[in-house]
Amino acid sequence: MSLAPSVAAVARVAHLSADVVVDSHSVFSPYWKSRSHSPSSVVSLPRGADPVSTLLRHEQAHLLCYTASSSPALTRLLPHLTDLSSRPLVIHIAAQDDLSDALVLRAAVPYFIHSSTAQQAHDNALLAARLARTERKAVVHVFHVGEPGETVVEVSDEKVRPFLLAEKRALVSKPNGRPHSPGPGSRPHSPAPKRPHSPALGHANGHARSGSDINGLARPASPLLAASSSSLPLDPATAELTQAYEAAALSTLALVRRSQRALVQHGSLDPHTLILTLGRTNLGFEIDGVCFLDLTLVSPLPAGRILSAIRPSVRQVIVLEQVEKWPTKFTPLFLDIVSALQHREVEPRPDIRSGYLGAGTLQAADVFKLLDHAPVSSPTDRLQLGHPPSASSSTVEAPHVPRHEASYTRILTHLFGERLQIANSPSFVPSHGELATSPEFALGRIRGEIELRDELVHGVRELLQDAKLSPNLHSLLSQWILSKDDGAKSRQLAQEIIQALESETSVDAASRVLALRDYLPAYSRWIIGSDAWSYDLGSSGLHHAIASGLNVNILILDTLPYTSRNSSDPTRRKHDVGLYAMNHGDVYVASVAVYSSYAQALQALIEAEKFNGPSVVLAYLPYKSEESPALDLLKETKLAVDSGYWPLYRWDPSKEAAGKEPFSLDSDAVKNDLQSFLDRQNHLSQLVRAKPLLPAELVGSLGETVKEARKRKAEQSYAELTTGLDSLPLLILYASDGGAAEKKAKRLANRAKARGLFVSLTTMDASSQNALSEEEHVVFVTSTAGQGEPPQNGRSFFKALNAAAAKGDKILGKLKYSVFGMGDSHYWPRPEDAHYYNKPGKDLDARLLQLGGERFADLGLGDDQDADGPETGYKLWEPLVWKALGVDTVEVLEAEPDPITNEHIKAASGYLRGTIAEGLSDTTTGALAASDTQLTKFHGIYQQDDRDIRDEREAQGVEPAYAFMIRVRMPGGVCTPAQWLAIDQIADEHGSGNFKITTRQTFQFHGVIKKHLKLSIQAINRALLDTLAACGDVNRNVIVSAVPSLSKLHAQVYDFAKGVSEHLLPRTTAYHEIWLDKKLVAGEAVKDYEPLYGEFYLPRKYKIAVAVPPTNDVDVFANDVGFIAIVNDDGDLAGFNVTAGGGMGVTHGNKKTYPRTGSILGFVTPDQGKLVAEKIMLVQRDNGNRTDRKNARLKYTIDRMGLDVFKAAVENLLGFNFQDARPYTFDRNIDDFGWQIGQDGKHHFSCFIENGRVQDEPERDFKTALREIAKVHKGRFRLTANQHLIITDIAPEDVPQIKSLLAQYKLDNVNFTGLRLSSSACVAFPTCGLAMAESERYLPILIDKVEKICEENGLRNDSIVMRMTGCPNGCARPYVAEVAFVGKAPGTYLMLLGGGYYGQRLNKIYRESVSEPEILAILRPMIKRYALERHEGERFGDFVIRAGYIAETTEGQAWYDRMGGEGQYREIAV
Ligand code: SF4
Repeated sequence: MSLAPSVAAVARVAHLSADVVVDSHSVFSPYWKSRSHSPSSVVSLPRGADPVSTLLRHEQAHLLCYTASSSPALTRLLPHLTDLSSRPLVIHIAAQDDLSDALVLRAAVPYFIHSSTAQQAHDNALLAARLARTERKAVVHVFHVGEPGETVVEVSDEKVRPFLLAEKRALVSKPNGRPHSPGPGSRPHSPAPKRPHSPALGHANGHARSGSDINGLARPASPLLAASSSSLPLDPATAELTQAYEAAALSTLALVRRSQRALVQHGSLDPHTLILTLGRTNLGFEIDGVCFLDLTLVSPLPAGRILSAIRPSVRQVIVLEQVEKWPTKFTPLFLDIVSALQHREVEPRPDIRSGYLGAGTLQAADVFKLLDHAPVSSPTDRLQLGHPPSASSSTVEAPHVPRHEASYTRILTHLFGERLQIANSPSFVPSHGELATSPEFALGRIRGEIELRDELVHGVRELLQDAKLSPNLHSLLSQWILSKDDGAKSRQLAQEIIQALESETSVDAASRVLALRDYLPAYSRWIIGSDAWSYDLGSSGLHHAIASGLNVNILILDTLPYTSRNSSDPTRRKHDVGLYAMNHGDVYVASVAVYSSYAQALQALIEAEKFNGPSVVLAYLPYKSEESPALDLLKETKLAVDSGYWPLYRWDPSKEAAGKEPFSLDSDAVKNDLQSFLDRQNHLSQLVRAKPLLPAELVGSLGETVKEARKRKAEQSYAELTTGLDSLPLLILYASDGGAAEKKAKRLANRAKARGLFVSLTTMDASSQNALSEEEHVVFVTSTAGQGEPPQNGRSFFKALNAAAAKGDKILGKLKYSVFGMGDSHYWPRPEDAHYYNKPGKDLDARLLQLGGERFADLGLGDDQDADGPETGYKLWEPLVWKALGVDTVEVLEAEPDPITNEHIKAASGYLRGTIAEGLSDTTTGALAASDTQLTKFHGIYQQDDRDIRDEREAQGVEPAYAFMIRVRMPGGVCTPAQWLAIDQIADEHGSGNFKITTRQTFQFHGVIKKHLKLSIQAINRALLDTLAACGDVNRNVIVSAVPSLSKLHAQVYDFAKGVSEHLLPRTTAYHEIWLDKKLVAGEAVKDYEPLYGEFYLPRKYKIAVAVPPTNDVDVFANDVGFIAIVNDDGDLAGFNVTAGGGMGVTHGNKKTYPRTGSILGFVTPDQGKLVAEKIMLVQRDNGNRTDRKNARLKYTIDRMGLDVFKAAVENLLGFNFQDARPYTFDRNIDDFGWQIGQDGKHHFSCFIENGRVQDEPERDFKTALREIAKVHKGRFRLTANQHLIITDIAPEDVPQIKSLLAQYKLDNVNFTGLRLSSSACVAFPTCGLAMAESERYLPILIDKVEKICEENGLRNDSIVMRMTGCPNGCARPYVAEVAFVGKAPGTYLMLLGGGYYGQRLNKIYRESVSEPEILAILRPMIKRYALERHEGERFGDFVIRAGYIAETTEGQAWYDRMGGEGQYREIAV
């Protein structure tokens, strides 16, 4: 859209002159959008936003500009103009030929300037800037948008700043007392400048006119002060203002070489009529006896100035203003003129008339018409010159409501349906104007409606007294009186009452009630405050609404993202509004976040609506733009809620009356200001004490780092006392995420001690810059995280060094150092990313040198790709360190102490006890001891911390937000409805309110804090489930194909799986002792014995799956041991083909690790199966690699031993041989969704639960749905290994009820694309400690995009198995998917192609590092080709191999061969 010349010129001046420009979604906005890098900082307010708080905030600005279009919304400035008027502020208002809205501001500002033409607008913009800046006063400059063809001569950019900064021009006083300007050029007596055309008479900023000029050169030099020529005294304040204006006008004249006049007169020198105009005119023509006076400086307007402009000959003054609508009969300007004329000494006083000045081209004939009409019209009639603007020009569009905000309005609609009334709905704007979204409007509307309803109630009561009323109507009205506040009932009765009233014509009072029929139904009345379209509800509007005491509901949306909060206006943190409202007393207040707790948001909205009085619901909806993905909203919400920035709570004063607690805290953390508010408030502080939900450990704790640092210091002091003083001190600092660098550092410390050095060791972040400056010899060991970043526990240290280096400090003058960095030169294969390799190590080395350190041994670099991994580089570097420290010749006699490994922890644990029990009772930290966290895995418990807020908490100096993941052991994934209900309740009471169906067919809870751990495990046990061996180096949950249609066979394989699971369970009693408080017998001596596992348990996890062909939904080949069910001719279970050696876990860049599909060993009978599972496990127990956990899974043992040797070892233990494998066929590894009927006539429904997350989300209340189903279901729930759910064994007579519940909650929808139905993702962020990239939260978003490609190519219903994991551990079995993505760093994935559709073949790395645009660019042509060229029935995984994209992976050890694509598709850098 091209800008009008006037707007562009004014905007340019504002842009060049102001420090800060605030724009209110106006005609200027396109200009500001195109000037993102302007000298001024531009604050673009959303449509409808109240600019006042923003303007008030920039009090330091040398010049602040506010740009706006003329609109009724300008009135919002009025109450604050007193504050703003003494600031250097220019308010530019672009008017469309009607000055009504702008003139409202006139009385409240020192200066009000009007420009009629584009050239004048340009010049006056400069003048206004200069005036505001020099006088530190507010100037309103209103100008007309004008025509596109107008020309403007603009000053060059470089002249503007000097003009603004130039000394204030002084007006010197002439001997006669009149101030006199020295004129441009600064020499006091220099002549006035020669103007280009030097018009002898009138001149209106470039538009020369004929006639005399009261401001002309022949007239007094200071025209404004010509007022003093009259007898009227000028008050000092006005005199000062006018002098300042005059000075600024002269400076502007000198700059632009066009005179700037407060008013311009032209026309007859001896006039009988004076026409004073304020507006855009073209009255340049001559009319005998008429003089025209155009007003530029509207304020200040001294009476003397007006009088001196009115010649004695004038008999008639007509004041014409472009003011179409004015609330009073006479405008302020007209009254000013009237009042000035009262002082006229020349008699008779002229007649004075007011009139409307039309826009557009005027002719002399129009003026004649006006002059003819004036004497014959009534003196109080308003005259008119020209025509008013067309109505169409003032059409106002409804403001746009950003799509994210619909999530709350949808909930309101869902809850209150037809009853919902949004009193400030944007849809009112076209009919009621822009202020229709304002709270004042809404409140007025609601108040009016409530009054009318009261009238209705009164009318109905009166009617009920009427004896003539029919019994039917009497009954209906009585019912209505009783249920008038019930939304549904009142609406229903309304229909009947209206019908009855219409036929009740004999009763007079009926017509009165009928006239108010619209108010018969009870409405749910809401006012919505939104940053985007109803901005100011959070401040003044809220106060009015609360103070009104009306039964009104207010929903305030806070859209400020948590991560942007510091850079934004802190006054916009609307949840402080909650404190304000609570303070008020009888107001319902709730703070909700739909993306954190949908259920709590619903509850709060329902409660708010029920509350009889004002209700305020503060709703968090953080988004940066409309395009922000839902994932961002989720993350931001989570950060805000978990950190306590946005606590979830409800405050219901009505509960107090019922003797209940009015305050409910619905989230764990609460921010300090709310807590201190609670403390401050007398009433609420009692709640805090009474409420155990606000324990200190939720809001923060001392933190392990601090404690560790103190402990280390104490130990060090003690060691210093006891150690020989002549030992050379060596400090070793490390930063490590995965533990590899930590291990290296610890080993180095041991070796240094063995060489007689006095060693201390800690993480980089636990050390300070000050401490470092005191150290002499320091060795640094760091690994590389993410995109070349330092590991988490070194980031602050790196930041501090960088900051010191940026300041040029040389603080490490004493330091002698050496750095060893660890990285993977292959991790980032593209040449442009090569610098990420070992970046932290290299950066640290350089930074230390820059800070004055002296390198005593060269930088050492360990590369995962070297023959011996990082050890290769380490072996070269370490001797340099010893040499530099002078201990290279020391003979080390004793072997180095072994580093502590998981094997040590297991052996020393007393059969999985460790110090878990003690750790649970330690309330000073939310964590358990590091060694115990290895042991709790065996109990089904993982310690995690919230990765989303890890940095945030670290910055706050508190320990990470520790919480635990609990995984249930549930062989075959089968549970009863009662167990489902128990799980649902445990998630609510102890976890994060949701739970996950995992790829191992079980439940997993996240977010269980330490003090809830035991309670959770006990609750799980009460549901007859347990968590023992759900994780750890033991046999994990045994998974079984979920094929409900084969009821008989499934029952057999399920029993088999359960038997295997029980058989391989650890026998330790530690689980019962720790979690279930079962005491050990016989003097508490540990009597445990593990017949199968021994005290070391297994080298690594051990996974078993049982598949029932043709479905391979368990991915049998991805498990350590697989049983493929073989059926005899009667359909009974004949036995199993046994596979061994499958496994998914890989370490990025470590080619010693690889995925593997299981190898078939042979056939066994069902009786033998359990024994086979045991013996394979024992061979692994005794032969697995216990020195390197990365190489410890059964798959590596088999490849190391050789399949035949391994099989023989198993057969040896079994005492019999495997039979030959029997034929079988798999045809899929995904689930069959929808309804099925089993052999026994029972019905089963497979639901699609995306990535297994059972939770309530907007429009998808699946958790509630399944809870409701569980309440009535009589069969079983069966979890699938693809993370979905089957509701099984539904008797035919119960099907309608289940169907109706499924439909009610939309859980019956399985109409998704084949791609989505075949997808699966692991948990990853925010809970999984190993996650490198998003998975569960991101895959659905990626699928949204890829399924569009599929749909474009006619593949909507074609199944393509796509999986994603957040790290290479492979929990969602990505390496057997047809397409897979494995996280490497945030937003970056390894891309794999070519897996077998039914899980029979590994895929292969196609690209080593892709982000979303690359993924889509790769898949788009590939999917298109697949659609066009595939053979009949050919699967995508097979096609990409045949089409030459990728080579087939024949076995695990060949996984890396030919990775990176084939032929023309080969990745260049590989
Ligand atoms: S694959 Fe990695 S990121 Fe995903 S859940 Fe497993 S360990 Fe965590």
